[in-house]
Amino acid sequence: MSTLSFDDVTFDERGLVPVVTQDARTGEVLMLAWANREALQRTLESRQGTYYSRSRQELWVKGLTSGHTQRVRHVSLDCDGDAVLYQVEQVGPACHTGERSCFHRSLPGEGDSSQGRGLDGVLERVYATIETRLREQPEGSYVVRLHAGGLDRVLKKVAEESGEVLLAAKNGDRAELATETADLLFHLLFALAEVGVTPADVAQVLEAREGKSGLRGPKEAG
Ligand code: AMP
Ligand code: ZN
Ligand code: ZN
Ligand code: ZN
Repeated sequence: MSTLSFDDVTFDERGLVPVVTQDARTGEVLMLAWANREALQRTLESRQGTYYSRSRQELWVKGLTSGHTQRVRHVSLDCDGDAVLYQVEQVGPACHTGERSCFHRSLPGEGDSSQGRGLDGVLERVYATIETRLREQPEGSYVVRLHAGGLDRVLKKVAEESGEVLLAAKNGDRAELATETADLLFHLLFALAEVGVTPADVAQVLEAREGKSGLRGPKEAG
């Protein structure tokens, strides 16, 4: 990846460049907005998602009124320099409607946008929620209650849910298998959080193995 200078950014005739903002952890596209030179400069310096509001015609630090700020982890430029990407840690929803992403409206006939999105985004979010609960210890939280029983309690749930997954699979009950797998994944994520292993750590191992055929699980022989 190369490092660019400001001169590589092509601003349009209004002095603006479109900015795609993405959740740095899950890859979810959160919003599309605009930046002028100053907004971009401020984003790079302050690491707070900063834009130019075309309706208000002013610099706009995302979250200044709503509190839904963006900590900018990485800024990149597309191949021909006319679009920018902010990869951010989003606090709260990115959209002013309260939805996590601005892109929550499907066109007619498109079905539900969550269809076919797969697992990794939701796993990251659930892990982040578990971490938040462990940190803030809100009353009535299942995570807080289970955590009080120590790591062994969490691991016991992992074992229990594994058993339920096996049963559901053997019975060929697809709805039950999906539910029990969700239970298992949740408690696995919980165990990871207790020990301080992140989904990214696990993803790294999986990705390193990707495309290598014939790999054997380490315990397969025994
Ligand atoms: P905020 O920057 O979150 O404090 O919101 C301030 C104002 O910016 C809102 O009242 C909206 O008008 C606008 N706004 C906030 N988030 C978005 C967004 N994701 N897309 C478009 N406009 C937004
Ligand atoms: Zn381009
Ligand atoms: Zn929106
Ligand atoms: Zn279960």
